[in-house]
Amino acid sequence: MRTLYKIWKYAYIVAILTEACYGQTAIRPQQPGTATQPQAATRAAPLSLADRLQVKIVVAPRAFVEKYLTYQVQGHAPSVDQLKAYAPLLADEYSLYTAEFMKAADVKSIVLAADLTLSSAEWRDQRRYALPAMEKGVLYLDCTALSAGGSEYARIVMHHELFHMIDFMMNTLSQDDAWGNLNVAGFHYGTGGASALKNVKINDKVEGFPGFFTWYGTTGPEEDKAELWAHLLVHPDMVAKQSKTDKVMTSKVALIKARIGKFQSDFDETFWQRVVVHSTTAAKH
Ligand SMILES: [Zn+2]
Repeated sequence: MRTLYKIWKYAYIVAILTEACYGQTAIRPQQPGTATQPQAATRAAPLSLADRLQVKIVVAPRAFVEKYLTYQVQGHAPSVDQLKAYAPLLADEYSLYTAEFMKAADVKSIVLAADLTLSSAEWRDQRRYALPAMEKGVLYLDCTALSAGGSEYARIVMHHELFHMIDFMMNTLSQDDAWGNLNVAGFHYGTGGASALKNVKINDKVEGFPGFFTWYGTTGPEEDKAELWAHLLVHPDMVAKQSKTDKVMTSKVALIKARIGKFQSDFDETFWQRVVVHSTTAAKH
């Protein structure tokens, strides 16, 4: 990987990410003597996002092909304008996470790219706007998610794909009967997210079955959880509203929060209150 990317740390991207962190209002001020200890949902940490999360944030400097055991990831360098637009969103949304969360999710580096595609024995050049590569602890994020789907879509996607990584580390990604059993009798998941990507309905609301936001969530339990996680972080108000009349949604929210809380003790009720505050300010951008 190093030979492909040479891990470029562009001065301007670091500056943007640092400035975006500085620009926020402190929700929980840092305690004296804990400057290097990132805290849950501290949005005003006076550190760059990469330092706070203890991950490498790198920019693909040119077209690349990264090979993994059963698939490969291709992409291009994002333009300066694409980076400038995307970096503040990333800094804002990922300010909700901590270095401990990233470590638990085994995220070692985040690669900012454009035109991301995945190829495998089954798929050829499948377009992706974010892609987790658990094998090497790399999370690829496509800066053009913003121009392709707008700010809300870009925010959802960056949380969705990160959740796959922590789900994997919790050993619940591929086999999760406890989750599936929360659905109503007669519901069956589809054949996975990848097979549904060309389906124009994937982002539509689901009518007929409780416990879902999008059709994409019905394609598999792993996509269901990642969609719920992303909506919990970006649209907690929407989740709360649906939960009032949707018992399946209520039980899914309780289970995902309990699991994360058990895995990461900082992600407690206080954290979720901060998420609500964050979502009201994020919606203005
Ligand atoms: Zn997914």
